[in-house]
Amino acid sequence: MQTQNIDGRMFIAGQRTWSRSGATLDAIDPATAAAFTTMALADSTDVDTAVTSARAAFEGWAGLPPVRRVRILNRIAGLLRERRAEFAELESLDVGKPLKQAEDDVAAAAGYFEFFAGVADKVFGSSIPLGRGFVDFTLREPLGVSAQIVPWNYPLRLASRGIAPALACANAVVAKPAAEAGLSIVRLAELAVEAGLPAGVFNVVTGGRETGAALSSHPGINHITFTGSVPTGIAIMKAAADNVVPVTLELGGKSPNIIFEDADLERAAASSATTLMQNSAQTCTAPTRLLLERSAHDRFVDLLAQRIRTIRMGRGLDNPDMGPVVSERQMNRVLGYLDAGAKDGATAVTGGGRSTARELAHGYFIEPTLLDHVARGSVLEQEEIFGPVLTVTTFESVDEAIAIANGTPYGLVTGIWTRDLSKALTVATAVKSGQVRVNAYSVEGSIGLPFGGYKRSGFGREQGVEALANYTQVKNVMINFG
Ligand code: NAD
Repeated sequence: MQTQNIDGRMFIAGQRTWSRSGATLDAIDPATAAAFTTMALADSTDVDTAVTSARAAFEGWAGLPPVRRVRILNRIAGLLRERRAEFAELESLDVGKPLKQAEDDVAAAAGYFEFFAGVADKVFGSSIPLGRGFVDFTLREPLGVSAQIVPWNYPLRLASRGIAPALACANAVVAKPAAEAGLSIVRLAELAVEAGLPAGVFNVVTGGRETGAALSSHPGINHITFTGSVPTGIAIMKAAADNVVPVTLELGGKSPNIIFEDADLERAAASSATTLMQNSAQTCTAPTRLLLERSAHDRFVDLLAQRIRTIRMGRGLDNPDMGPVVSERQMNRVLGYLDAGAKDGATAVTGGGRSTARELAHGYFIEPTLLDHVARGSVLEQEEIFGPVLTVTTFESVDEAIAIANGTPYGLVTGIWTRDLSKALTVATAVKSGQVRVNAYSVEGSIGLPFGGYKRSGFGREQGVEALANYTQVKNVMINFG
């Protein structure tokens, strides 16, 4: 890949552009800690230009016959699939994830555009009976300009998760990727124009916290979708309150993976090893909190440790099993958790620190870590680590498993492994989380499944037809024709 040619400009009104002030920031390769390109750093003036551009394009876009939006969204998906290698290389370099995982992300992004292309001409209203002489119907209208504030862990995939339904429902978009990684989102906006999206409908401003704050507080936006940390979600909600705009928040998790003795332990162990390797467990849904039935503990830990010991780490572009974490800051954050765990009496069955391999010394590599004897209620068991660390806590009964699963402020996903249907349903109905996954943690077609949090994991549902509720407002029309 020709890294020196990567365009670091953002995308406003259908054009690549630097910020008005000329400010920039470096894009860093997390495998080497070296800068590979320079990105535009947008300030409030650039954000204002992007929002103005989206406002200007909105009416024209919303006025099109929906079937034209169907075609454009399908063309975006088609181009993404055609350019899969290019997007995957960019994402792998920017985030550090193995190339194969980045390719899966591009396919998932295309999948979002295909799914929402399929519903763009089916945003139905309803008809409500009022008796003779009256008709009453509802219209589901777009909100206007949707601000999409995206984290660094799955830039293309998470941006597509929000942008595809926003566009399908005839909104315009201003997206703001994270400073750590998000070049693929700018490239996506450029590709969307190539697919026929009118200039100005989808804009991208690049930068960090200040750029995000300028966007979330801009009076010209009508909606915010945010994925990221709880403190930032709270700041964004406050900014949205000042302008009275709705928000959709997806704020991460501390997902439990409950493994009963009667489960297929081999499959559950394979799934847990995948959790570590998948983007170095920098995944909001990652079931990193293993809850093991005490009688299965030794066998499961042994099976999982054997798998973890075979994980090869390396630079994402070389397609290893696992890459580095995204940044020095994230690495230090994860190492801080490992120190806290050691003080709390947790024992590292595998890993436990930064990689000592000479060829990985310059990058942000943390060994895949399995921590046993993690005390219920300890920092490691409660807080989102967001790095390649699995924690093990044991339980003795179904009730205790449910209590531990529900014992954090988060509620995004719960994994359950058992052959006993009654046990699975008892837990599935008792846990406070937006999704429950039994005997498999991933499935083809998951884009159609509503996804979002309970408790401090956020609110609003993305994916599936439920997502349309985020991007439309309902108008009721009552007519007396008698
Ligand atoms: P973050 O919340 O700081 O940043 C996420 C996005 O918000 C970035 O684009 C960032 O620039 C922007 N932002 C930051 N401050 C802002 C503000 N005041 N106003 C508007 N926008 C602002 O998250 P992070 O540091 O990038 O990631 C760390 C944590 O975020 C993780 O540990 C994890 O808890 C969480 N996270 C969750 C998910 C998820 O899918 N739910 C994904 C990634 C990260």
